[in-house]
Amino acid sequence: MNLLIRNGRLLDPAHRRDEVTDVLIENGKVARIGRTLKAEGPKSDIQVIDGTDRWVVPGLVDVHVHLREPGFEYKETIKTGTEAAAAGGFTSVCCMPNTQPVNDNQAVTRLIREKARQEGRVHVFPIGAVTKDSKGEELAEIGELAEAGCVAITDDGKPVMNSGVMRRAMEYALAFDLPVIDHCEDEHLMDGGVMNEGVVSMELGLRGIPAAAEEVMVARNLILAELTGARLHLAHVSTAGSVRLIREAKSRGARVTAETCPHYFSLTEEAVRGYNTDAKMNPPLRTVQDRDAIRQGLKDGTLDVIATDHAPHTEDEKNREFDLAPFGIVGLETALPLTLRLVEEGVLSLDEAVAKLTVHPARVMRLNKGHLGIGADADLCLIEPEAAWTVEPARFHSKSRNTPFAGWRMKGLVAMTIVEGRVVYSTEEIRAV
Ligand SMILES: [Zn+2]
Repeated sequence: MNLLIRNGRLLDPAHRRDEVTDVLIENGKVARIGRTLKAEGPKSDIQVIDGTDRWVVPGLVDVHVHLREPGFEYKETIKTGTEAAAAGGFTSVCCMPNTQPVNDNQAVTRLIREKARQEGRVHVFPIGAVTKDSKGEELAEIGELAEAGCVAITDDGKPVMNSGVMRRAMEYALAFDLPVIDHCEDEHLMDGGVMNEGVVSMELGLRGIPAAAEEVMVARNLILAELTGARLHLAHVSTAGSVRLIREAKSRGARVTAETCPHYFSLTEEAVRGYNTDAKMNPPLRTVQDRDAIRQGLKDGTLDVIATDHAPHTEDEKNREFDLAPFGIVGLETALPLTLRLVEEGVLSLDEAVAKLTVHPARVMRLNKGHLGIGADADLCLIEPEAAWTVEPARFHSKSRNTPFAGWRMKGLVAMTIVEGRVVYSTEEIRAV
């Protein structure tokens, strides 16, 4: 089945396109772009999709997702996680290695890829561990992980505390041209904290995590990246100090990219009041000044990528006292409208916002994704920009419901997601895949 999307507003930052046009998809690839296209061949072979008043954008690419399989299938599976991705407009996700077992060897990488091929709704790119069992001690077989299809390495969920180990990891990763991603957090400074350290943590009587816990590790990683020449990607940046450090390193020409997440530019530590465990995440929600610095970092290009850090947990796990609940929130189904708020508020242009969800993350992982060039995989999504809706966690496609955005009014709805020319998600019932 081929597809013809008529009369949509095509937004493709990678090719500097923003125009009302038609897109013809043949054999899973973008075949032609232009006004009033006609499909060749018999009519029954082509499905026409009305793009009027819709945006047609490259499928979103998320470099930071926890799919939880293998090992934690009660929270999420490759199937449900990729269904959530498709519902959120994502066509490619990179999954973190902190599964059980940890993705620190080819067998686990192959298992994930095989499951994703069989049951996944969207493309899944595994990320391997930096160290064996992500214990931070002995390096994983980085070359073998690369060979099995891992697109990056990280011990995300925890930092690589030992700077010597991190240096060697960067040297190895450089040999395979893999980015090294670090969850920047000094465990000793974190010291059992559960939220941002500040006035709110004091008032609530909760142990705080200082901004410095993140910033000293950002600084260390930048220094090691400059020492080794490795490609460094900093996960979920949350503080003003981190933004400043990354900006300085970039101005020196360091090979560093960085991501933040919608919650860090949308919320502050105030969301934790009432001991709301759906606002418990790591790094924690910070102050208004941090949130504003994150927005500024997105605007000036210091922060290249918007990633979700989609981290599903069950209701039972979150329904505990604040100290005991796990860190993390789901994010795949709310990332796009939260990012579009930045456009409404004048922080980002629409082009910049789309780029940070598509071509920039694809470039970090060296994926030929996130753009709609002729001959590229037809991974794209259709958005109804004016459609308003309310976040109802019960309707999430994810297995988990842990979001601090329940009840929020959103503008901008994913109407359809297409992967290699196949409709994998649609708000309309007519789609036969
Ligand atoms: Zn992390």
